[in-house]
Amino acid sequence: MTTKRKVQILPPENFENLKLSKAKKKAVGVPAIVSTMRHISKEMGVWKGIKLLNKMNQKDGFDCPGCAWPDPDGKRSGLGEYCENGAKAIAEEATSKRVTPDFFKKHSVEEMSTWTDYKIGKSGRITHPMYLPEGASHYEQISWDDAFQKIAAKLKSLNNPDEAVFYTSGRTSNEAAFAYQLLVRQFGTNNLPDCSNMCHESSGAGLSQTVGIGKGSVTLDDLYESELIVVMGQNPGTNHPRMLTALEKCKKNGGKIVSVNPIPEAGNNVFVDPQNPLAIIKGGTQLTDHYLQVKINGDVALLKAIMILMLEAEEKAPGTVFDLDFIAEFTNGYDELIADVRKTDFNEMVAQSGIAESQIREVAKLFIAKQKIIICWAMGLTQHENGVNNIKEVVNILLLKGSIGKPGAGTCPVRGHSNVQGDRTMGIWEKPKDDFLDNLDKHFGIQSPRKHGVDAVESIQACLDKKVKFFMFMGGNFISATPDSQLTGEAIQNCEMTVQISTKLNRSHLVTGNEAIILPCLARSDRDDQASGLQFVSVENSMGVVHKSQGRLDPPSNDLMSEPAIVAKIGAATFGDSPVNWSEMEENYDVIRNHIEATISGFENYNKRVRIPQGFYLPNGARDRKFTTPDGKANFSVIEAPNRKVKEGNLIMMTIRTHDQYNTTIYGMDDRYRGIEGERRVVLMNKQDIKSQGFKELDVVHLVSEFNGEERKANYFKIVAYDIAKGCVATYFPEANVLVPLKSVAKGSNTPVSKFVEIRLEKAN
Ligand code: SF4
Repeated sequence: MTTKRKVQILPPENFENLKLSKAKKKAVGVPAIVSTMRHISKEMGVWKGIKLLNKMNQKDGFDCPGCAWPDPDGKRSGLGEYCENGAKAIAEEATSKRVTPDFFKKHSVEEMSTWTDYKIGKSGRITHPMYLPEGASHYEQISWDDAFQKIAAKLKSLNNPDEAVFYTSGRTSNEAAFAYQLLVRQFGTNNLPDCSNMCHESSGAGLSQTVGIGKGSVTLDDLYESELIVVMGQNPGTNHPRMLTALEKCKKNGGKIVSVNPIPEAGNNVFVDPQNPLAIIKGGTQLTDHYLQVKINGDVALLKAIMILMLEAEEKAPGTVFDLDFIAEFTNGYDELIADVRKTDFNEMVAQSGIAESQIREVAKLFIAKQKIIICWAMGLTQHENGVNNIKEVVNILLLKGSIGKPGAGTCPVRGHSNVQGDRTMGIWEKPKDDFLDNLDKHFGIQSPRKHGVDAVESIQACLDKKVKFFMFMGGNFISATPDSQLTGEAIQNCEMTVQISTKLNRSHLVTGNEAIILPCLARSDRDDQASGLQFVSVENSMGVVHKSQGRLDPPSNDLMSEPAIVAKIGAATFGDSPVNWSEMEENYDVIRNHIEATISGFENYNKRVRIPQGFYLPNGARDRKFTTPDGKANFSVIEAPNRKVKEGNLIMMTIRTHDQYNTTIYGMDDRYRGIEGERRVVLMNKQDIKSQGFKELDVVHLVSEFNGEERKANYFKIVAYDIAKGCVATYFPEANVLVPLKSVAKGSNTPVSKFVEIRLEKAN
């Protein structure tokens, strides 16, 4: 029986140096320039940084490894096509700090696990393959060949392929993702969980069932010409900052903007374009016309209340509010929806939403008057038990207006990871469609498994049940990104071998299986030379544009490999002489793209079209009103408002990011827009709740979540009084992920419910 290493799974509970100031009303502007310069000068030097940033998101450059916000099809900004957080993302990759074999000799995994995630991440780029033997505390250097042999030997030793799981983070390029899923299917399993399982899986499920495609229907140009944009459960100022430019263009074209969020975020309020001196002098552009401070998960109630008012107006003047021609020609279920709206109690919906009736009536007027409407959303809608229904309700209100599949209108789930949408398109899914597997088998002469695999939450449960012996992670930081952190950590420690393909150090390198291997890979901004010459990869953004990305920087070490090369090597080592020619895929990524063209629809002439400077759009049935549903029609859905009750005295917690954070990567200790600096163990709480609960600001508390009679505890948080909807609190992840129960998931998508966690506060002694 192997003894588990005594590593700390949770981030340390000690406080740093909290400084509070007034929350900002404006986003970007000069402070973003200052912050950008500070980050690049600290990590790589200003000159090198500016030279590199000038290539980011440019047509002959490389794609930002941050979020998946699209680049303009036409002219890109000569001053820079990136935001502050994109610059932070690239500063992390291009940092001059190095994690060398000596670093690992000095620091045991036990010691490093007591560091904050910020400190772990700031250690730098990993320079050589490393191996952590069973029972050992220090990683030791290993050769690539020995690493591949160890992995191949472990895979071949398994009783069945489902004892292995292969995770993907959304930074993985199309070429690496396609090769990775091929490796996994040739090996014989569909255990391909990915980060989408934890973020937009509810969007994929809700959209596929209603409009036939799990992706958004709008393009960037649609946002510019929209009459009404509603931003729900999203904080673009921090998570998709260049979206603010598009919102400003919409405003300048006469459009209206409504933001729906339990917190009034600076990025939804005023945008100060840092590339426009006049805007800086004038103080920027007011973006939001109506801010609705919805209660956490009050979104369906809000949309139902608006639909009731729309129906009232429609019945007074038929055909002036609803697009009856569109409804008749392109939809199913209208009558059932209207019957449900008719019997829904307006006042009850207003109460459940937590928003003043007068505000709802103002916004309803916009829905009644406008024809070209876009609804944008992120985790605030998807990470709920009813996450899939939240998306279906969004589609309902757009279908009533015929606001899909025409210019200026449609659905806009904004992806948080640069290629998370592309990975799914490449086949990274535990529930693959048979026609895709048929294409793979026919093209490669393999026999793909048909039994569906495990998603992220199921993979953790499978590890807990000791059904998983081998777990590979293509990028990411699984331990910090997943719910129920303590349980997840213990689950991963049940594995015999874990393998991380990574650029930088993170907590998942410290909480591992009995044996662990780190395979250090090239980053998006690194140049990638293979036998056939300099390579480029491709990615797909939130609007379904596939485009090329070519790194420029000399890699931080000569002992790194690209993700496609690593996968090809593991394939060759595991399968030896097989129908799949792995080495040719390593030598020239055009070969991988030819395979993609042969097996995935929409990639005709891939190698030719991906070389078009702005890339190409993938087919999108919803965008063209060719709904790829069973009967070719879009579906209305009858959705119930959730109205989940919490125990007297308990609060609803949502986990959020700071402005110095990208997913689990902590760039810095500040949350500038919210006026919270130097500390991450804080709980943002409504002043009235602080008072009614008998606390004071800055009191130190423990947070206890309650779920199905189970309790989970996160110790030592400071109360920060904040403008958040009453009865709701916000905390940062990964610190609060320990409170999110593994079994608390969205129906129909299994997405962890990180936005609705029932908690109580206990005074810390
Ligand atoms: S908006 Fe997103 S993709 Fe664009 S530069 Fe910022 S982080 Fe990168």
